Amino acid sequence: MVKTFHPRTLEEALKIRKDEKAIPLAGGTDLMVRFRSWAGTQPDFPWPVMFINHLSEIRYIDIQPKEIRIGAGATLSEVEQCSEVPKVLRTAVSQMAAPALRNLGTVAGNICNASPAGDTISVLYALNARVELTSLHGARQISIMEFISGPGRKDLGDDEIMTAVMIPIESFTHTLYRKVGTRKANALSKLSFCGLAKIKAGRIDDIRLSFGAVGPTVVRSVETEKKLIGLSIEKLKELYSEIRPDYVAMVQPIDDQRSTAVYRKQVSLNLLDQYIESLTMES
Ligand SMILES: Cc1cc2nc3c(=O)[nH]c(=O)nc-3n(C[C@H](O)[C@H](O)[C@H](O)COP(=O)(O)OP(=O)(O)OC[C@H]3O[C@@H](n4cnc5c(N)ncnc54)[C@H](O)[C@@H]3O)c2cc1C
Repeated sequence: MVKTFHPRTLEEALKIRKDEKAIPLAGGTDLMVRFRSWAGTQPDFPWPVMFINHLSEIRYIDIQPKEIRIGAGATLSEVEQCSEVPKVLRTAVSQMAAPALRNLGTVAGNICNASPAGDTISVLYALNARVELTSLHGARQISIMEFISGPGRKDLGDDEIMTAVMIPIESFTHTLYRKVGTRKANALSKLSFCGLAKIKAGRIDDIRLSFGAVGPTVVRSVETEKKLIGLSIEKLKELYSEIRPDYVAMVQPIDDQRSTAVYRKQVSLNLLDQYIESLTMES
């Protein structure tokens, strides 16, 4: 018999998390599948489960002067429909699962599942998102890149709940999100790519490139991006062939039931090439 909790407030939830080590269940769209029982009976959870998506303290999207705060209880549909959320993230969310699942699932759940194929994660890496983790002792914030350390591995204390995701408000001149899956709905990514760039007066002011499902975590290299920042478009054309090998080395996918390593690597690099070419053509 699974022990379940239905706290009335965030504070009560944090107390249950600390005392009972109950695992948070937001939409349950990952958790219910991971622990499903093939016999059609209740899922077999190894820990107590705590429902959190009804908590009003975390069910919001707040637009502040410098950042957007997405409460951990906000559903994927709410994020998709909020026009202030960066379009590139709404595009990624709109391609996740199917509408009924998006009415339940959350961005925080996608992050905490810590799958390298999580569709919001590659975009949130590129957007320099941060996450807020709260316990009875207070809240701390860390970057999403620090939070996730491997498939299913994350820096979440056993007394903590993720309470929000923060996205800096910035503008980009060239944004691209591409998901490659088997079909349009209810298909996890074979791979994904996100490119964000700010080009001013023919020069790269900022560029961020991230790849999903091609390594143990989303792949993004701030160091390699630094080699591109400040270049004129003419120089980018000249130097890209010298920088591309960094990505050839970094993109190291595996074979699994969804795709092959060879396909994932080739298509990821094709998307990178196309994105870089689009910068050189449009600017
Ligand atoms: C048919 C189907 C299709 C899918 N398609 C896609 C897809 O296209 N792309 C994609 O990326 N994913 C997909 N998913 C996976 C899933 O829907 C998403 O990852 C979703 O965002 C998970 O959110 P959730 O709120 O349901 O998470 P839950 O299942 O509630 O939780 C997932 C994990 O996060 C933890 N967690 C949740 N909230 C918190 C919190 N606030 N603090 C701490 N820990 C927390 C849980 O304990 C659990 O470990 C699909 C799933 C199904 C069943």
